[in-house]
Order: sequence, then structure tokens, then C-alpha cells
Amino acid sequence: MTYVKGLKCRECGRTYPAEAIHVCEFCFGPLEVNYDYEALKKVATRERIETGPKSLWRYRELLPIDGEPTVGFHSGFTPLVRADRLGSELGVNELYLKDDSVCHPTWSFKDRVVAVALSKARELGFHTVACASTGNLANAVSAHGARAGFQRYIFIPNDLEQAKILGTLVYAPKLIVVRGNYDDVNRLCGEIAGKYRWAFVNVNIRPYYAEGSKTFGFEIAEQMGWRTPDHLVCCAASGSLLTKIWKGFKEFEMLGLIDRVKTRVHCAQPEGCSPISEMIMTDSDTLKPVKPKTIAKSLAIGNPADGYYARDAVKASGGSAEIASDQEIRDGIQLLAKTEGIFTETAGGVTVAVAKKLIEKGVIPKDESLVIAITGNGLKTQDAIQDSVVSPIEIEPQLKSFEERVWANCKT
Ligand SMILES: *Cc1c(COP(=O)(O)O)cnc(C)c1O
Ligand SMILES: [Zn+2]
Repeated sequence: MTYVKGLKCRECGRTYPAEAIHVCEFCFGPLEVNYDYEALKKVATRERIETGPKSLWRYRELLPIDGEPTVGFHSGFTPLVRADRLGSELGVNELYLKDDSVCHPTWSFKDRVVAVALSKARELGFHTVACASTGNLANAVSAHGARAGFQRYIFIPNDLEQAKILGTLVYAPKLIVVRGNYDDVNRLCGEIAGKYRWAFVNVNIRPYYAEGSKTFGFEIAEQMGWRTPDHLVCCAASGSLLTKIWKGFKEFEMLGLIDRVKTRVHCAQPEGCSPISEMIMTDSDTLKPVKPKTIAKSLAIGNPADGYYARDAVKASGGSAEIASDQEIRDGIQLLAKTEGIFTETAGGVTVAVAKKLIEKGVIPKDESLVIAITGNGLKTQDAIQDSVVSPIEIEPQLKSFEERVWANCKT
């Protein structure tokens, strides 16, 4: 049973059947999945969702597949962590972390989008899946694709973190390292996708892939007791995650699952690659593509596909935008770790740093609820903080050595 009506152009509204297509033939606008919300009102109830599987598939009726899911049975439904220690450090009373650093099986929110994309790719009859990636998507397509028995072609820029490369290679895909940045890789993949009959998760099946991001927002609302926070700080690369969290909140509202959404969504980007945040901060109508230079490589997209839609979502919500320097990102990672015991990657450092700034500026007031998006795991970006963590203390295996070097220094 499906509630998908088809695809719809985000610009001109023309409709298309639910196939492996992503741009409008008439205006070249991007296509988006369109649902039969009247029919959904009868089936998408709180009770039904609450008794569903403990994965993103508990929202299956709001996801774009026709049959049963075949990929990602354990992905999603990650913890929403109440973060009082970080909250008091930052100066807010009601803080939560949506923690996709522990998403199954590749430790980032990309497991959500890939679960949906590959389930759809199977329904559309593909045998080969592919992607252009800033790292986490490569891990997820490799892993989920291995388990689902797909041929996999993964394209990445040549400056990625070692752990993201190894975390792709271990699943034995074809990994193609392109001499260039993500935007070069993406352009190349657009050409390849036009020629080969592959399911490119972020090209020809992007409309389905993108829907997976809604579940990050659905879970926040459900886990807060069927309400959304006053504020959400979310990072952006292509801008798809932010845009779709907003779509997800509005869908819940439309279906009567939650009250009117009052969440202000704030866009967080690294200083060295912040075309979306810049556009919002300067109230400009044109997105200026940039050449990324940042330690937050998972967010290093200089020409973001959903930049304008992310801007629109932020504006519609009454939100704002900020940026974080490399040092602020490192500080953000370590502040989160030492207050809440969560080790996030650079993207999470960006959201923590930006939340800190927005609280300091009074954009996020002390007594309003806030969720910070934690989208990836710190073990994948160890290089970023290698030189800024505390040093271990090395001793001889004797009590005397312990007392001299450790105890004598600590008891003061
Ligand atoms: C891909 C990614 C994002 C942003 O995704 P977009 O949907 O492209 O904006 C955020 N955080 C992490 C860790 C990612 O890997
Ligand atoms: Zn169109």
C-alpha cells in the first residue's frame, strides 16, 4: 500500500509518475515526492506509529515506497538526549540532542536517507547503486548496499578523512577517488548518471533519498511527546536535511499529529563553506557558490542543491543562521564530549558552536526549548581534534611512579 501520488516539481507544480527522475522537463526545477494527505490522515495515527518498529520505518506510511521496506531495518530511532550539563554551560534550561552519531550501521544520519533510497531503488528494479559523497553517504551506501546485494559505485573527493575512506572500503564497493572537490565529483556524477542505468542516490533517485531526512524531524517530535521544540539548530551541506526536517514537521502538523509548529529552525554551517548561512545572514536573494576550506568535510558543499529551499525553510520558520570557525568547531566537539559524553564529528561541532553563539546573542532565549542536531560520529573525524585533546599521563608500572606523576599533580 502506498500513499505516494507521484512526483511534483517544486517550482512549477507539474506532476510526474514516481520513477527514477529528479528534474522537471519544463522548468528544470527539482522534483519532490507528493502524498495523498487525505488518505494518510486515516492511517498515520500516533497509536499506529508508536506500535511500529524501532527504526525509521515506523513512519513508513510517510515514506515513498510501494511495498514493504527491504533496506535499513535498524536505522533511525536514535536517542533524543536531555542535555542538562551542556544546557547549563550554554545558558538554556531545556536542551536536547538528537543523536545520530549512533545511527545504525554507519554512525551518521545518512543511514536514514540510504535506507529509503535503496528500498526504492530495489522497487524500481535497479541492480547497481551509486553516489557522490562527502564521506558519510559513501559509508552508508557501501554498507546498506552490501547487505542488500547491490553493485556499488562510490565517488568521493580526494581530500576525505582516512576513517571515512576505510569505513567505505571495508564493505568492498568500487570506490572512485576524484581529483577535485565535492562539487566537481557531483558534476561528474550528473554526467555518469545520464549515461548508465544506475540508481544514483543523490542524482536520479534524490527525491526518494531526501524523504529519509524527514524521519530525523519525525523522531524529534515523537520523542518530545508529540510536540516540536521552540528552536532547532541544524547543520547544512546541500541543505536537504534541514529542508526535509521542516517538511516533516509540517506534515505532522497537517496530519493532526502535533499542534501548530512554532519551531524556529536555525542553519549552521562552517565558516569555510557557508553559502546558505551567508545568504540568510546577509538577507540576500542569491546564493554565492564558494570553494570549501573547512575541517567540517561532511558539510563541504560549495554549491548546495537545496540552498534556496533551506533558506526558505529557515525564513518560513522565523529562524536564523550562523557560522562556526574551525577552532569553534573543535571547541564545540570537546564541549559536547566533556559535558554529555557524546563524541560527534565536525558537523556536530558546527551545530554545538552555532547554538552557543545564538544563545549568547539572545536569538535563542534561556527559557525556550532547543534541540541541537548531532548528525555524525567523532571516531570518523579524529584528525580534526588530534592536537587539541588533553594529553595522557604516562607512568612506570609502580605505585611510586603513579603517586609522583599523577597523584601529586591532581590533588592540588
Ligand atoms: C551529509 C551530512 C549533513 C548534511 O546533509 P545535507 O542534507 O546535504 O544538508 C550533515 N551532517 C553530516 C554528518 C552529514 O554527513
Ligand atoms: Zn517545473
